[in-house]
Amino acid sequence: MKLVIGYFYPDYLNLYGDDGNVQILKYRAEKRGIEVEVVEVSTTTDISLLQPKEINLVFMGGGPDASQKDMYQDLLSNKKTFLKNYIEAGGVGLFICGSYQLLGDYYKAANGDVLEGLKIFDLYTISFGNKKPRCIGNVVCELNSASRHEPTFSHLNSIGGTLVGFENHGGRTYLGKNGTPLATIIKGHGNNSEDHTEGCIYKNVIGSYLHGPILARNPHLADYLIAKSLGVTDFGPIDDTMALDAHRLSLKL
Ligand code: GLN
Repeated sequence: MKLVIGYFYPDYLNLYGDDGNVQILKYRAEKRGIEVEVVEVSTTTDISLLQPKEINLVFMGGGPDASQKDMYQDLLSNKKTFLKNYIEAGGVGLFICGSYQLLGDYYKAANGDVLEGLKIFDLYTISFGNKKPRCIGNVVCELNSASRHEPTFSHLNSIGGTLVGFENHGGRTYLGKNGTPLATIIKGHGNNSEDHTEGCIYKNVIGSYLHGPILARNPHLADYLIAKSLGVTDFGPIDDTMALDAHRLSLKL
């Protein structure tokens, strides 16, 4: 078995240690004897040389408005078809904050610039600048029921239905009628600090505002992404004492 992680725009979207998610996925897979290859994809990458089936897990991190503005045209012009085909075919992906926003209809940045998105998630995002405060702080949320009881996730899960992390975003995301929230906020802001939703899930792709990086204190989510990418349900054990302690302590923040 081989896990091929497509790490998109590492030079533009890597805020608050989001690249740690790729390191955690690699570590956790290799601890189970799974070969891992990380393929970095950015503005200079000719994506036509890559077949969607060669990659079985896509990761994109977050970034400031300026970085999003620098890369979104390449995303739209050169990577959109690959990602749409990959996602519609059931490809597994994790998109954090700034990249999560760009999977929706559009992101209206704090300076009023409108960055068109990939229209994969049914959502839109608006940053209200100084009219509304940034969403900053620790987050505790509860996975939606379907995600929590998804067979692969529930088989591997030993923590429960909570996800914890840290958020820092000006953009407020509003889900459309076909937008399924990843989780419900218990503590923190989440998508928009109004409707108590956090993130979005579509097919096998997760969008979330959780930095931290998200997978550091949510090993159950990390293992789910690996298992789903490889079509397996059983893994050998890993000593997760530190991660589990960090997760449980985060519930009390
Ligand atoms: N620039 C976007 C915002 O402020 C995303 C920030 C991030 O990725 N943390 O909402």
